[in-house]
Amino acid sequence: MSDPSETFFTSVGCMDGRVHDPVAIFGKEKFGAQHPDTITEAGLVGLLARLQMPEHSDGGQAKGDNPELLESIKKKLLISIEKHHSKGVIVHGHEDCAGNPVDGVKHKEDILKSAEIVRSLIPEGAEVIPVFVVKNNGAWTAEPL
Ligand SMILES: [Zn+2]
Repeated sequence: MSDPSETFFTSVGCMDGRVHDPVAIFGKEKFGAQHPDTITEAGLVGLLARLQMPEHSDGGQAKGDNPELLESIKKKLLISIEKHHSKGVIVHGHEDCAGNPVDGVKHKEDILKSAEIVRSLIPEGAEVIPVFVVKNNGAWTAEPL
């Protein structure tokens, strides 16, 4: 079990190693929590945004055409939220993504859509923040959308 003095937030996004430090810095400040529980796939927001979702998703029952992906993400989200009492969730995508090679406008749409899907998977009231990670003068920075 985690020590009560250890605090968590949840990071949902790409596996790309360049984004995890900036997301951790952003989340620590945003939520006042120490440790990012990290849920990744290559180009995750692209995978989520392009699931064929049912017209009316009712809280976690929506599975679309890749039920394994959603079930896997949901399971990890609930462990982070219920067992680690996560202070909030960051859903992120980033520039120069090999797993979701779309332009910035489309990528931001994918992030926002993925944030909505994540909201549908977790208990009401948990904060979900969409973030785009960009490269500014050689430094990767998390920018909330
Ligand atoms: Zn990526």
